[in-house]
Amino acid sequence: MNQKDNVMEKIVSLCKRRGFVFQSSEIYGGINSCWDYGPLGVELKRNIKDYWWRCMTQLRNDVVGIDASIIMHPRVWETSGHVAGFVDPLVDCRKCKQRFKADQLKENKCPECGGELTSARQFNLMFKTHLGPVEDDASIAYLRPETAQGIYVNFLNVLGPSRQKIPFGIAQIGKAFRNEISPGNFVFRSREFEQMEMQYFVHPKEDVKWLEYWKNERMNWYLGLGVREENLKLHQHTKKELAFYAKDAFDIEYNFPFGWQEIEGIHNRTDFDLSRHSQATGKDLSYFDDQTKEKYIPYIIETSAGVDRSLLVFLVDAYYEEEVKGEKRVALRLDPKIAPIKAAILPLVKRDNMPEIAQDIYKKLKPHFNVFYDEGGAVGRRYRRQDEIGTPFCITIDSQTLQDNTVTLRERDSMEQVRVKIDDLREELERRIWG
Ligand code: ATP
Repeated sequence: MNQKDNVMEKIVSLCKRRGFVFQSSEIYGGINSCWDYGPLGVELKRNIKDYWWRCMTQLRNDVVGIDASIIMHPRVWETSGHVAGFVDPLVDCRKCKQRFKADQLKENKCPECGGELTSARQFNLMFKTHLGPVEDDASIAYLRPETAQGIYVNFLNVLGPSRQKIPFGIAQIGKAFRNEISPGNFVFRSREFEQMEMQYFVHPKEDVKWLEYWKNERMNWYLGLGVREENLKLHQHTKKELAFYAKDAFDIEYNFPFGWQEIEGIHNRTDFDLSRHSQATGKDLSYFDDQTKEKYIPYIIETSAGVDRSLLVFLVDAYYEEEVKGEKRVALRLDPKIAPIKAAILPLVKRDNMPEIAQDIYKKLKPHFNVFYDEGGAVGRRYRRQDEIGTPFCITIDSQTLQDNTVTLRERDSMEQVRVKIDDLREELERRIWG
């Protein structure tokens, strides 16, 4: 039984109740479209980013990372086309004064009150600020609306020291900001969010091959973290959707309770970005292949994922309800690699030396895994609490432990229990988490 109905409401409520995600500035009444991650949410988010980083850089020899500044030279955004083009057309209702995105309206009248609409005005989604004490046009700066530009402008800086040869990539994880007109659906669309982006530099004649390659890699990344295949699909941009500089583009979409929506873009951006930055700065951003003696501006295959959107995918896909012995059981079937807490350590009762043995196990495992100690209440209730936050394993110290130094290891999804020697716990967990 995995009802789609109300699943978003259930997840939002679970996130608040168990400390995954809170509305920003809640005690002030909250601020629309900004979210704070609580103790469990921050662990989940960090695990997602770490796993992405590991897969995209550390386990490969052709991708290196950077961490660029959020505020960049304002001319970057002129060159990239964001100052002129990163806009949504907006209309206002003359009667009720509400504001709408023109391209989302089915008819030319207010969807709320039927009133007459103004003609569309262009609204730039970039947040503006000023650098330094004087607020004039010369001091304007922007909060980056994507992390990609930080990679393009560092192409030469990275190329030299990293001694990479084409094809190679540069990866970055960081905050991005967009003054979205209609934020919503929890953390799916917010005004401050995080991106995990990788720009892969290729020979212009190899773009098709590498786009295909990254499409598969990125799909497999979600599948490898347990997202159900039937809930993922690739959507190829139609001519109308395609950005003017892109040659081909795909979105990975997820079947959210509110419909199929993009979670990651995989785009062939051609030589547009490097050419434009080259023209604007007079710096030669071409690549010289010392074997073929060919000089060219590389094409870029981009993979651009949202951290917060991925987190929502993992939560929605993992949310599971069932009836066990006449009681409702809620489980988050998160992959152990990203689960906030890997194992809970539970003495069956608070006597007979069980808490002491449990504490000892806890201290031994703590440097290696994020484990949690809990001795309060019936063990069944303690299991349920862990199921609900996605803890994949529970380790219980019982009377048999006192005799043979074994504990039970309970697996969240099957609820199966096996006995494991205390000395083997670390290795057993390692194997079950990382395979
Ligand atoms: P959408 O059409 O949904 O606004 P987009 O096409 O503008 O998305 P991109 O510019 O391709 O998105 O950004 C890459 C990724 O960054 C998206 O796939 C998404 O995961 C994430 N992202 C973009 N905007 C937001 C946002 N407002 N809130 C959360 N994540 C976002």
